[in-house]
Amino acid sequence: MTHTMQPAPSNHNPACQRAAQVGCDCDCSGMMHQSNILVAAFESAKTPPEFDRELTKLFGSAFRTISIDPTSSEATRRLWEPIASATAQKQRSQSEQRIVDVAVRDVLRIVHSIPLSGKVGWLPLLEAVTCHTSWRSVANQVQRLSGQHDEASGFFWSSALAAALGAGAKARPAPAPTAMDIANFPGTQSTVFDEARHPRARSGNTVKTIKEVALPAAFNVAADTLATALASSPLPVQEKLTVVAIAGLVTSADLWRHPAAVRYLLLPAIRFLRSNFGGKFSLDNQAKLTEQIIEDELKQKWKDGGVW
Ligand SMILES: [Zn+2]
Repeated sequence: MTHTMQPAPSNHNPACQRAAQVGCDCDCSGMMHQSNILVAAFESAKTPPEFDRELTKLFGSAFRTISIDPTSSEATRRLWEPIASATAQKQRSQSEQRIVDVAVRDVLRIVHSIPLSGKVGWLPLLEAVTCHTSWRSVANQVQRLSGQHDEASGFFWSSALAAALGAGAKARPAPAPTAMDIANFPGTQSTVFDEARHPRARSGNTVKTIKEVALPAAFNVAADTLATALASSPLPVQEKLTVVAIAGLVTSADLWRHPAAVRYLLLPAIRFLRSNFGGKFSLDNQAKLTEQIIEDELKQKWKDGGVW
């Protein structure tokens, strides 16, 4: 890929791009987070079984339940403490984390399975909305306004994509939202766009402000960039929004801590992929679809905390 040919950026952590760990603590502001596997899904690189093995390596197994301990042949994205010894709180956290980790894995698998003829024009738009060749200069622009990246900066670009999706859906039938539509969208919603917080977080160390979202001048850099990218794409609006949703949910530093991304990116992506591409999700069961599980286990808790 072209970006690997460029000189290494000052503090870019290659593990971020390779999805080697949860989170993004580097200078990319989230733009390059997990980009290798995201691009591979768009390109339908490798055979489905090979791609699936890669997904297991990165995100863990395609679990079918939210709380049963992994078997010895199953892999997890994060540390999993056996139910027998885990506190009630730990059990809740790891179930919530499993829901989002399995969902990201499912989304990538489904995108990979769509034939290239069904994704014409998707990759150029993905590269445009994640600034594939220009992320360094965009990140520099943002940092000049908001200061050096911190532990919540990896949520920035995904929050901007969430605003772009919300604004794009609202602007219909216009083919793309304007920069102002995107910049203004978060202020019109009850969901917080500028906080990273897990579903039961209430205050203190578990709630982090995403300073680049909170600072209008910095957020405008993203709004301008995304409005231009969306206006330049010839795709129908629905396809543009699908690409934005997928790009945004995969680049989030951690969906478990990102209510805006779950609401405006993950849930729409699951619905689009289910209705338009026949996508099936690992946690779907006879009683509940994955969307409903996300609403019950994540949305409702954020709602109770007043941030959804
Ligand atoms: Zn990063």
